[in-house]
Amino acid sequence: MMAYPTPKMFIAGQWITAGDAGEMAVVNPATGAVLGHCPKASVAQLDAALKAADDAFPGWSRTSGAERHAILRRAADLLRERAADIARVITAEMGKPHAQGLGEILSACDTLDFLGEEAKRRGGRLIPVRGGQLIAQMVTHEPIGPAVLLTPWNFPVNLPAKKIGGALAAGCTAIFKPAENTPVSAQLLVECFVDAGVPAGVLNLVHGDPGPIAEHLIASPVTRKVSFTGSTAVGKQLGALAASHMKRFAPELGGHAPVIVSKNADLERAVAMCASTKFRNAGQVCVSPTRFLVAKEVYDRFVAEFAERASKLKVGDPGADESVDMGPLAHGRRIAAMEQVVADAGGNRGEVVTGGKALGGKGFFFPPTVIANPAADSRFMTEEPFGPIAGIVPFDTIEDAVRIANGLRYGLAAYAFSGDLDEAHYLAGSLRAGMVGINQLIVSSPETPFGGIGDSGFGSEGGEEGYLAFTDTKLVMLAKAGG
Ligand code: NAD
Repeated sequence: MMAYPTPKMFIAGQWITAGDAGEMAVVNPATGAVLGHCPKASVAQLDAALKAADDAFPGWSRTSGAERHAILRRAADLLRERAADIARVITAEMGKPHAQGLGEILSACDTLDFLGEEAKRRGGRLIPVRGGQLIAQMVTHEPIGPAVLLTPWNFPVNLPAKKIGGALAAGCTAIFKPAENTPVSAQLLVECFVDAGVPAGVLNLVHGDPGPIAEHLIASPVTRKVSFTGSTAVGKQLGALAASHMKRFAPELGGHAPVIVSKNADLERAVAMCASTKFRNAGQVCVSPTRFLVAKEVYDRFVAEFAERASKLKVGDPGADESVDMGPLAHGRRIAAMEQVVADAGGNRGEVVTGGKALGGKGFFFPPTVIANPAADSRFMTEEPFGPIAGIVPFDTIEDAVRIANGLRYGLAAYAFSGDLDEAHYLAGSLRAGMVGINQLIVSSPETPFGGIGDSGFGSEGGEEGYLAFTDTKLVMLAKAGG
């Protein structure tokens, strides 16, 4: 692996290695080794980033869409060229296998391409006038202004790329604060934009303690928009703060995705897809399929085959062995969270069919775990596990399955498998979620909107919505000057 680069901030066009608020260690979750130390921004450094974004906004917002597209396309090309090295940093910082890191980066490149193209092609609309002196009614999409982008560690390149791509394509400037444990993945992404020619001040990168930084940035009068991906609890706090300052807020929060497997499904295909997708990124994915609701006629077979596939997955340090299927969890707090979920499913409240105990050693390893028939009020069935735990619940009728699926306040992704066309239509229509996958488990592409409802947040990233999210709607009514 390449040497771990020195973590830096990027403020007003300058790379900065010294944080005036000290530094924090970055730890490899597979080995416990300290990779490096990341600078923490002081209030003065945050203010410098805010000023830079504010100063750069008038110029950047007036560049043509074609110019912004050219820069974003160059950034995407550089990201493609550097993908293999950046994927190794992702693995070292948060434990994702190399192939999954590469996949996330290449998807980020396509997202940047799409959002850059939106800058070129997205006009407004003309609305027919009612007569009189009016000549035209024009609706345009104006860049909101400096945006604060707060991102988590589970997709440390792809999630920031959606936010940075949307903001910059729309003509906004940005202050980007990535997760504490993935600073260099973020920095290498920012480097692609800098090397592609993004002017000084347009994109700023700061690091440090998330709570105080978010509070300072959101409260600043410079900030016009806040985009956050992370937990529902933090999203609610930040949303309340943004509302108190009348700032536009876009929360992409947690989920607890149900998967309904009907007796009419192709069971073998459904089990194979579910068992491999569930444990991707060690289950630390907001749209991870998690609550498997399976028709009682096929329940025993589904549990046995799912658990067998889960128990065969190769778990290990993906930095040392690229063939592992699943790496460590991102940090020690996730292990504690998994142990609480399993403990709560003990006794007669569910059966741990495979896994269930942390693997020990220096890294944060927890095995693929399957809980059969967890109680309806168990921690597993009511709280997002955000880890490698699947629960499987039998159902009698398809209406019962939909009722269980829709029973939580989360509403990010939901999935269903059925070979019956009418049933598939019913499921697509009745599952309450921002994104529904039928007979497959992918709900994300560069061209399509990604977002949830209820406790999973609101608004969308990706697709044309990911561009429009960084714009204000403006109406111009144009009348004759006289006579
Ligand atoms: P955590 O809440 O400690 O941190 C999650 C992320 O939120 C981190 O990136 C952190 O920088 C940020 N964060 C934390 N407190 C913040 C604050 N006060 N202001 C601004 N940002 C803040 O939890 P964790 O154990 O690291 O991650 C697991 C939880 O995070 C799960 O519950 C999951 O729902 C959520 N999460 C969600 C997503 C997603 O894609 N929606 C991604 C990662 C984590």
